Amino acid sequence: MTKTTETGWNFDNSYARLPNSFFTRLNLNHVDSPKLIILNESLANSLGLDVKALQNEKGVAVLAGNRIPEGALPLAQAYAGHQFGHFTMLGDGRAILLGEQITPNDERMDIQLKGAGRTPYSRMGDGRATLGPMLREYIISEAMHALGIPTTRSLAVVTTGEPVIRETELPGAILTRVAASHLRVGTFQFATNFCTDVELQILADYAIERHFPVIDVFSNRYLALLQEVIKRQAELIVKWQLVGFVHGVMNTDNMTISGETIDYGPCAFMDNYDPATVFSSIDSQGRYAYGHQPYMGVWNLGRFAESLLPLLHENQDEAIKLAEDAIDEYGEVYVTKWLSGMRAKLGIFTEETADESLIKELLDLMQKYNADYTNTFRDLTFNQLENTVLFGKKEFAQWVEKWQARLGRQQQSKAESQQLMRDSNPAVIPRNHRVEEALKAAVEQGDYSVMERLLEVLANPYAHTPEQKEYATLPAPSNWPYQTFCGT
Ligand code: AMP
Ligand code: MG
Repeated sequence: MTKTTETGWNFDNSYARLPNSFFTRLNLNHVDSPKLIILNESLANSLGLDVKALQNEKGVAVLAGNRIPEGALPLAQAYAGHQFGHFTMLGDGRAILLGEQITPNDERMDIQLKGAGRTPYSRMGDGRATLGPMLREYIISEAMHALGIPTTRSLAVVTTGEPVIRETELPGAILTRVAASHLRVGTFQFATNFCTDVELQILADYAIERHFPVIDVFSNRYLALLQEVIKRQAELIVKWQLVGFVHGVMNTDNMTISGETIDYGPCAFMDNYDPATVFSSIDSQGRYAYGHQPYMGVWNLGRFAESLLPLLHENQDEAIKLAEDAIDEYGEVYVTKWLSGMRAKLGIFTEETADESLIKELLDLMQKYNADYTNTFRDLTFNQLENTVLFGKKEFAQWVEKWQARLGRQQQSKAESQQLMRDSNPAVIPRNHRVEEALKAAVEQGDYSVMERLLEVLANPYAHTPEQKEYATLPAPSNWPYQTFCGT
């Protein structure tokens, strides 16, 4: 391990000690004139980095990939993945891992520059990223973190001073992404398909040591790895569903082993409740629609289980049986966690069998009458029923009566219920029109104040303060559905 630099960089490079097939060492690509656009000061502090030093010329040069900080070993990771169901070789095509920052709390966090130039895995791509989408990732990933959802984080965005050609010429930018690791289901698929069984085992041991160090006590540690990843992913997807987050591109290369949300390309939050909600321009079949996410989660985990088969048991039939049994657990973890999360959103502390139908009836009403998902729960929280479009509908009045009776059948007081609801129902989410407004001001006018204000509001989604009100309002009706894009 290296000694801390003046900026506070304190790198180790455990991934670089894996067999060579898992990565390619790189030289950094120089960019013209880097400029710091936004720096996440609280994240920098928690990583042990000096904010002032990051902001000076040398600090920004690191964030732009122009300077290798002491101790870093830049590399691009190899991985494969099922993209919309089709298996293909991928890898970091526009991201460079500098190394792992060892934080003052002794945590190990990957520091990756996204948009830092071509790598051997770039295929036809230019290795670059543009300002709007990198700021979008910054805003949404930080909002997810504040919502209490495991996620990769965003340390900084710099512009490169170089144009990037998309449909038009756009300002090039680099995002510094911070992650518990960048190990993906696709990393294991790569190992199984293109490496030896010994290398696959080294990768699995590495993942266990890095993310599940307690596993050692189990008799079949690779089965335990599978079970833990299944559990974390089920829990993660429940959290997405509870806040109405649509990931948009749940390919196996975009599913982490750590259980963090990764890859903020075409994601967006749902306004009115509709399980068919899709924003991604290329997802015409609705494969990754809101209501489909739990199923795609288990589909991806099936691919993970397949990739671990050689390690699960020497007898293939036995290995398949173990994998299938593990996958079968997903449904139960998912449903149990979803029910408890939904109960909390309705202020319910105890368990009754009929809770599931109570929840589903509300969701059905929301779907039938185009009710906003986030605001309906907020209006229920604050007993402002007259604010929802459901108000005045007989079915809703009947539902409210049932719900109130249900609350009456638990010992907790009304005030305790309300507190639970306040803590479970965000006042604000990154609404698409607000995110677009912030990006437009930033990219077209160089005015970052709109984004900064949005970030401030999103940093405390459960605060329920008066200032948040204007961020909870819905967009004006539009003739165009909101669309998001991959690989921007
Ligand atoms: P994504 O859809 O963001 O998960 O990306 C899928 C794959 O495409 C990954 O291997 C990325 O590294 C790669 N990729 C996306 N954009 C670019 C780009 N502009 N240049 C090179 N590779 C890219
Ligand atoms: Mg990706």
